[in-house]
Amino acid sequence: MRFAVIDSKLVPEKILGSPISRIDDIPEIPLDPQFSFQADLKKILNGKQLLFEDVPFSHEIIQQHYEHGYVTYRKGLITAGKRFVCQRCGNEDKTWFAAFHCHRCNEECAYCRRCLMMGRVSECTPLVGWRDDAEVGSNGRDDVAQRLLQWDGSLSDGQKEAAIRVERAMLEKEELLVWAVCGAGKTEILFQGIEAAIAAGQRVCIATPRTDVVLELAPRLKAVFPNVSIAALYGGSEERHVFAALTISTTHQLLRFYRAFDTLIVDEVDAFPYSVDETLHYAVRQARKPYSAMIFLTATPCRSWQRECREGKRAHVTIPARFHRHPLPVPEFVWCGNWAKLLQKGRLPGSVVSWAKTRCDAGKGALMFIPRIELMEKMLPLFRKLHQGIESVHAEDSHRKEKVRKMREGKIPLLLTTTILERGVTFPNIDVAVLGAEAELFTESALVQIAGRAGRSASFPKGVVSFFHFGVTEEMQRARKVIQSMNKEAEKRCLVD
Ligand SMILES: [Zn+2]
Ligand SMILES: [Zn+2]
Repeated sequence: MRFAVIDSKLVPEKILGSPISRIDDIPEIPLDPQFSFQADLKKILNGKQLLFEDVPFSHEIIQQHYEHGYVTYRKGLITAGKRFVCQRCGNEDKTWFAAFHCHRCNEECAYCRRCLMMGRVSECTPLVGWRDDAEVGSNGRDDVAQRLLQWDGSLSDGQKEAAIRVERAMLEKEELLVWAVCGAGKTEILFQGIEAAIAAGQRVCIATPRTDVVLELAPRLKAVFPNVSIAALYGGSEERHVFAALTISTTHQLLRFYRAFDTLIVDEVDAFPYSVDETLHYAVRQARKPYSAMIFLTATPCRSWQRECREGKRAHVTIPARFHRHPLPVPEFVWCGNWAKLLQKGRLPGSVVSWAKTRCDAGKGALMFIPRIELMEKMLPLFRKLHQGIESVHAEDSHRKEKVRKMREGKIPLLLTTTILERGVTFPNIDVAVLGAEAELFTESALVQIAGRAGRSASFPKGVVSFFHFGVTEEMQRARKVIQSMNKEAEKRCLVD
């Protein structure tokens, strides 16, 4: 599409116009209060930055709303000297731009490859949004007399304190890190803040790196906030255009939002891909309103954040104890020699065999983390000599869900796994081991998460965590230290019995 500025308005102009990124200033049109705008269009565009093809309205209708001050156009790409910057995903790396012959502007048109999977942003692409002001920015609630939160559970003392801090941060638009150990119950601590913010007409988003978590959180939140509109967004979800007070989204889907949320809560801020992908950080910044709250949730903050917390440079609240008031199991380190070499000879270390045998005999479930799939495949037949029911699972395993279910039901005595079960899964009564804990992929945070799988349920709060290794690493030591210091703090604050 080509545009020109005529009478202080941006208008489509096939012949004389140019791609939007080459127009110096895009005029802002004053709001015409007499204009009767389309409520459905507002629903779709409010707080978003969409492409024309994402909006199920004709160009004419969108243009009309622009000309009356309701719709906004922003450049999809801007040029900085000779370089491009993608305004949707923040990409400025020139290797991530390409050009094609574009039928819309009828010339060579550069585009961003980085966010291409969400539709093409090129030199002639406007990002379409809705005018950002207080009136249209609210979540549209006008019937807040009823109680929004319908939950009769209770919070632990640690959760209560965190819930109060979260609510305050949300209402006062502050940044806060919630450092909650695995099994502390971090979802519940958000309820009271979400209720207060939504009652005040604000929009809240919980973003998480993983689709699994969106699918798990959405029904839980819909159950406790039955009268709040809730949208669950992930690749392929159908709720894309729901205008919701509460949005639960993958961090990736945030790329479609622009200055949308009064509070943005990022869950598992340390998890892949959020932890490594700059685009997602940009998406988070863009999706927030300029004056907004930011809450980070994690069980395993990165080292620099841990240091900032210790030095008092980062606003944070810790929940050092689990909901059931038992301390976290502290990992034991067990030297098992050169297990990889032994495996080549078709054998397993004696200490590992006796660990596995004890669990199988006692009928207590167990998880064993293995650094790589091919090692795991070699080990499985060796473990099966102890018990035929032993299974293995990894990310590409087509029976993954079924195996996790069987494990939960106690039908698998020992499950060998890669790091895919490192977080997010709960099995009621298990011991946990890592074989080859010195491997590089077992970072401090991975090991803390793995240890966090044991002893989670109130009926079985104890679990043994063993790191079988061929040389203790710094990461192993840090992981153990962090767990111990959480236990110590929990004791000091009387959060464990
Ligand atoms: Zn991009
Ligand atoms: Zn073009």
